[in-house]
Amino acid sequence: MLNKKSVDDINVKGKKVLVRCDFNVPLQDGKITDENRLVAALPTIKKLIADGGKVILCSHLGKPKGEPKPELSLAPVAKRLAELLGQEVKFAADPEVVGPNAKAAVEAMKDGEVVLIENTRYRAEETKNGEAFSKELASLADVFVNDAFGTAHRAHCSNVGVTQFIDTAVVGYLMQKEIDFLGNAVNNPERPFVAILGGSKVSSKISVIKNLLDKVDTLIIGGGMSFTFAKAKGQEIGKSLVEEDFLEYSKEMIEKAKAKGVKLLLPVDTVASKEFSNDAPFRVVEGSLAADEMGLDIGPKTQILYADALKDAKTVVWNGPMGVFEMSNFAAGTVAVAKALAEIDATTIIGGGDSAAAVNILGYGDKMTHISTGGGASLEFLEGKELPGVVAANDK
Ligand code: AMP
Repeated sequence: MLNKKSVDDINVKGKKVLVRCDFNVPLQDGKITDENRLVAALPTIKKLIADGGKVILCSHLGKPKGEPKPELSLAPVAKRLAELLGQEVKFAADPEVVGPNAKAAVEAMKDGEVVLIENTRYRAEETKNGEAFSKELASLADVFVNDAFGTAHRAHCSNVGVTQFIDTAVVGYLMQKEIDFLGNAVNNPERPFVAILGGSKVSSKISVIKNLLDKVDTLIIGGGMSFTFAKAKGQEIGKSLVEEDFLEYSKEMIEKAKAKGVKLLLPVDTVASKEFSNDAPFRVVEGSLAADEMGLDIGPKTQILYADALKDAKTVVWNGPMGVFEMSNFAAGTVAVAKALAEIDATTIIGGGDSAAAVNILGYGDKMTHISTGGGASLEFLEGKELPGVVAANDK
């Protein structure tokens, strides 16, 4: 459990409360195409409204790189949030984020009202954790709530800097939920504890593998990263994704797993093609691939092996697809893992990013115990790192 202060521990009646949310949602032609992050932010916002706070929301959206870009304005978020909350969300459209509109809107607020200020990344200082912008944000409010797990692994003005200039800083319900689920899984899991890692590269998940090998009973590896392990074991992998610099590391991890008695599962068959294309012919290969082939998904025997390994699990953490799931011919491995997770009686935690998208697209979202709203943040959490956004919100 996160034994830190949350929105339950403070009295916000009549106070101006600045809430850092993660409204970094995908947009297409000004329309929000996935509103999960908005829905996930509602419990904290509703609680603060019910308690009579003046709720000032802020977030980044995309990467405007310090310049006001109309296509990355939070205006569509204000509109949709108002519908979801059933009350007005006043949008303060200042290119400088904390400008005359924001100040006037905040000044005019009554208890229980909601204002959303503009994309914090319109300001170049935001991602540099600059003091001036941190102070401007803090000047809007009496209390700060960090509910943006998706950016908790970054030290920016709107989640870290701001806390230095405001007396009270706490975490919101979403942040608390994320940390509780991920924290319990990693530090106090009901066993057997199984981790599934996939995605493209070993290099981006080195510290996760290392950290999890000290915790899990079984580690399942799939996706592009499995070929570096396969090559390290002496298998021919053709043109598959490989990181030569990590062959030694992969060997060490195989040894470490053995020494610790952790079951390390690697694919026993592969769906391979000569081209990185959904239109090219493909075949299932057991063992070594031909020199002109690349592995793009786990094969059917591996699907069964992995589903079997998950059957008795009591806690599972999953990060990264089993293959190039964006192409329908190479999505079956990822679908099989999602299905296996949906069917078991265990605490199932999906670590954001591609695996969260896959689970949601496949319609298994409500079958999982927790789907993290932060891909990068949940990975860093699984690495055993302290997240700056969490530390700052609880340093008071
Ligand atoms: P990551 O961002 O490291 O989690 O990687 C996700 C990406 O890995 C997805 O876009 C997948 O298409 C890609 N991926 C998964 N398996 C493979 C594979 N066998 N070969 C190439 N790319 C892969």
